[in-house]
Amino acid sequence: MNTEFKYHFASDNTSGICPEAWQALQEANTGYHPSYGADTITAQACETFRQFFETDCEVFFVFNGTAANSLSLASLCQSYHSVICSDVAHVETDECGAPEFFSNGSKLLTAKSSLGKLDPTDVERLITHRSNLHYPRPRALSLSQSTELGTVYRPGEIAGLCGLAKQYGMHVHMDGARFFNALAGGSASPADITWRAGVNVLCCGGTKLGMAVTEAVVFFDKALARDFEYRCKQAGQLCSKMRFISAQWLRILTDNVWQTHAARANGLARQLADGLGKIPGVQILYPVDANAVFAKLPDPIKVRLKSHGWQFYSFIGGGSRLMCSWATTQADVESFIVDAIHDRE
Ligand SMILES: *Cc1c(COP(=O)(O)O)cnc(C)c1O
Repeated sequence: MNTEFKYHFASDNTSGICPEAWQALQEANTGYHPSYGADTITAQACETFRQFFETDCEVFFVFNGTAANSLSLASLCQSYHSVICSDVAHVETDECGAPEFFSNGSKLLTAKSSLGKLDPTDVERLITHRSNLHYPRPRALSLSQSTELGTVYRPGEIAGLCGLAKQYGMHVHMDGARFFNALAGGSASPADITWRAGVNVLCCGGTKLGMAVTEAVVFFDKALARDFEYRCKQAGQLCSKMRFISAQWLRILTDNVWQTHAARANGLARQLADGLGKIPGVQILYPVDANAVFAKLPDPIKVRLKSHGWQFYSFIGGGSRLMCSWATTQADVESFIVDAIHDRE
């Protein structure tokens, strides 16, 4: 591997596993236990989710976000239904058609978005502009929290979109690959930005927060979770040594570990945006509500950063995307800003 390359800000999944999750894996590595989630650690982890969300929800663990999103959407829709999501939604742009595949054909319909957030007027237009049986019937609304552009829906915005969906008999799915960053970026409780606002199912991201290979699918509407374990098994998403996944969740939801990591990543993203924003010609494109910074970097600055080895994406959301994670340090942020200004020796 070329050690010259620096992937620190390329994504929040280029970092490793956080110490708490690593320790939880280590501690779970003793003796023999029931497999496929029948163990006591898994029961404890699910119970902790119920306490965290202050409600009796059904919880399932899968290996990644694409599976969490597609399998949960598939459980909300029949093949002749449609899912309304934003034009920048991960389910639309980055899941290789998995939501359509696992739902046996439910069509994704993309609504306009502003700063990554669904435009309610356009959502309603998509729901109402056809009502005959030649059009796939809108059945689910999918929103990302935090959004793909690093912004965070306020509780009122979520309640507004959920209200709209309910008015038309639709379910609401939340892609929370960065749910904890969104939570740490606001003051509302986990319940307030999910089921209390009308969300039926949440895909809760573990990997980008700092865990190893896991996302949780949380059904607030338990009726929708019917047979979900069969979907997981059929899709190759049922972990036989489930306790290693559960142990990490248990640890991360205890003592506010999630908050420590998410708030830290968010704080460093803000510092990065502040520092970059002071450089002449650099424009910060969206509010930094969570752990992402989108910046329009003049070409010479981009070239200079690349010559220092920094890797980052420039195809998501326009501009360059810089992500902070649990592992990002203040020194990383400072060195990125210095490298944006100074040529390589
Ligand atoms: C990363 C991400 C996912 C999950 O992607 P996987 O690579 O399948 O784990 C889902 N939604 C959003 C918004 C993401 O950024």
